[in-house]
Amino acid sequence: MTNIKENLERTQKRIHDACIAARRPIEEVELLAVSKKHSVQSIREVMGLGLSRFGENYAQEMLQKQEELSGTQSEFVFIGQLQSNKIQRIVRAAAEIQTVSSIKHVRLIAKYAKATGKAPYPIYLILNAGDEPQKAGLNFKDLEALSLEVTENYPELTLKGVMCIPPASIATSASIDNIPELYKKIKDLSLKVGQGKLSLGMSHDLETAIKTGSTCVRIGTDIFGSRD
Ligand SMILES: *Cc1c(COP(=O)(O)O)cnc(C)c1O
Repeated sequence: MTNIKENLERTQKRIHDACIAARRPIEEVELLAVSKKHSVQSIREVMGLGLSRFGENYAQEMLQKQEELSGTQSEFVFIGQLQSNKIQRIVRAAAEIQTVSSIKHVRLIAKYAKATGKAPYPIYLILNAGDEPQKAGLNFKDLEALSLEVTENYPELTLKGVMCIPPASIATSASIDNIPELYKKIKDLSLKVGQGKLSLGMSHDLETAIKTGSTCVRIGTDIFGSRD
């Protein structure tokens, strides 16, 4: 059986220790609990332990959970692949979208944010830092260009910064004593994008990400257990 309380405490201790090692205030780093494929009951349990923001990857699943949990403190953050035909519902159900990578999606999010009274709506642009063909996201240059476009022309949006899932080979070999060049490059880019926030770091590279300067780590399995 998964002990969510123990898991969460272990994760929070890792974040705490990493912040101390990096000489950063703990308040700077948000823990986004990734609840995809986990039950509403598990989410309620994590809410009881003090967290209120949950990452979800699938629109339909997020909508259902959001409905079941309406009237609670819970907020959902969309971190999955965006599809134009689902953006209206995603904007309505989520408090933030971290996976924006096209001007078309920017336009749609701005439009629906305004229509639902949720403007200015928080977004991140997603970076494909290793130019991996199977992954979503923009390259460094295109992300910077889209960032300027959003900042100049979309008052309906709050551009928080950059979200990134670095190549697995780099993330798994990274350590707090040896920050990969790519991580530094990602951090440098994030400082030029919107509010300069950086959503970086999962279970295996949490410490490295915090040392790099991440302001949001996204943890699923280490809190909720495996998704079978
Ligand atoms: C699923 C997911 C996570 C969490 O992954 P775990 O391995 O379960 O910790 C984090 N970020 C994104 C974008 C994800 O899709």
